[in-house]
Amino acid sequence: MAKKNKKYIFITGGVASSLGKGLAAASIASLLERRGIKINLLKMDPYINVDPGTMSPTQHGEVFVTDDGAETDLDLGHYERFTTLTLSKKNNFTTGQVYLQVIENEREGKYLGKTVQVVPHITNEIKRRINLAAEDCELLIGEIGGTVGDIESQPYLESIRQFAHDVGTENVLFIHLVLVPYIEAAGELKSKPAQHSVKELRSLGLFPQMIILRADRDIDEGIVEKIALFCNVKKQNVFKSLDQNLIYKVPLAFNKQGLDQRITEELGMWTTNPNTSSLEKVVYNAENPRDTVNIGIVGKYTELIESYKSLDEALSHGAFANQLKLNLVYIDAEELEGKSANDVASKLKDIHGVLVPGGFGERGTEGKITAIKHARENNIPYFGICLGLQLAMIEFARNCAGISAATSEEFSENGDLVIHYMPGQTRDGSKGASMRLGAYDCEIKKKTLAYKIYGKTQISERHRHRLEVNNDYLERLQNSGMEISGINKELNLVEIIELPTHPYFIGCQYHPEFKSKPDLPHPLFTTFIEATYQRKGSLHE
Ligand code: GLN
Repeated sequence: MAKKNKKYIFITGGVASSLGKGLAAASIASLLERRGIKINLLKMDPYINVDPGTMSPTQHGEVFVTDDGAETDLDLGHYERFTTLTLSKKNNFTTGQVYLQVIENEREGKYLGKTVQVVPHITNEIKRRINLAAEDCELLIGEIGGTVGDIESQPYLESIRQFAHDVGTENVLFIHLVLVPYIEAAGELKSKPAQHSVKELRSLGLFPQMIILRADRDIDEGIVEKIALFCNVKKQNVFKSLDQNLIYKVPLAFNKQGLDQRITEELGMWTTNPNTSSLEKVVYNAENPRDTVNIGIVGKYTELIESYKSLDEALSHGAFANQLKLNLVYIDAEELEGKSANDVASKLKDIHGVLVPGGFGERGTEGKITAIKHARENNIPYFGICLGLQLAMIEFARNCAGISAATSEEFSENGDLVIHYMPGQTRDGSKGASMRLGAYDCEIKKKTLAYKIYGKTQISERHRHRLEVNNDYLERLQNSGMEISGINKELNLVEIIELPTHPYFIGCQYHPEFKSKPDLPHPLFTTFIEATYQRKGSLHE
């Protein structure tokens, strides 16, 4: 039997950034996977940082962590949420990694004294990585970060041009996603920027066979025809991507237009029709909520917007599962500092559940501790993630176990360091290398809330932190009523804590938000949202 050719889709973006290229790639992946194709995804980032781990989350959004401990672009989060894939280091690379590799090769004399150049050395390294990502799939969907016309993107565009030449153009589909802006004064959508963007691509030897038009309102057929004609793309290969109030509608909207069908036809692939029922159910639940719950997220103000993408998504997955509408209330931790119990109560009066997410640094931590104390004392559901576990431990140590000087080594060298650096995870290892990163096993104790939530004793979750619970204090904390319900046996580290006397108080050292999917919500989020709804009900009794 002849070996089936591997197929490739490369997605580029034009006219403006932030068009939702990652979402488009993830949506296409979702549909093609649902057609039974063994897919994989690759994000190529044109920036020179070696990984986004050291980039400010406020500038670049969240750092997404894979099972194998890669700190990657947040688009990989979309990729995992929209598909059944578990991604790894192979699924994301940056220009920094490419250059680092080429320079290391040069230092080792691997280029035999040749002049090392962008073409062919950088482009070859890019192609090598594309091949690596495509190793175990039938179809690779590769997204090029940035916008066509950026200086940084050029080596990537040249690489994918060569790549198509190498593997046969019949095996490659270039999809270009462009903005079609609405000009208020003229009262119309404009096609010219899209035409220019495609012209730019063509001048680089790339001829997109499919175009997706991004617009904030419906695009009339005249514009679609014009773009098809001037960009030399079949009219049936021009699709629309209009603003949606829910990202999980994007694949459904693509499917309705027949986009996935056209992709398989263009690539000569025979597949079944995709089964989108689980996504439809998510959309139905999102659009028909029974009620609303107010979740207070307590963080540093600057971190709160955009830097918790996976967290926001995981919370909404939990809400969809409960058919509830979420009202996320972002609370600036510093505003709670030094406030009286009454002031805190009035500030959190309408909050049905408190969540303290992951974070770094001391700023705002006393305010977060104040919020945790309020939740603990008033039976308000509490969910602490990573730093949220560490601070819950400190709060409990101070106020319930009589360890008044309890703190974390991240904030102070003195006091009772109930949270401390592990050997090898030191203060000066701030470059990311010394973090506990990626998947670790956790063993859950039976007859605990954690066991009720997970329904099993063996789990694996993803980490991204330097500090750990100090086992020297465990006995005192346990004697005062704290339950250690999950531990990593191998390293003897605390993974989950809870308070058995509280209706729902749980903290985890890992980041469960990285593993939640809309149609497979993470049980910590579904149960937390469920508990907040019960809390709301109890207030009206
Ligand atoms: N700053 C804490 C640590 O490094 C918590 C990290 C986090 O919440 N991701 O351990």
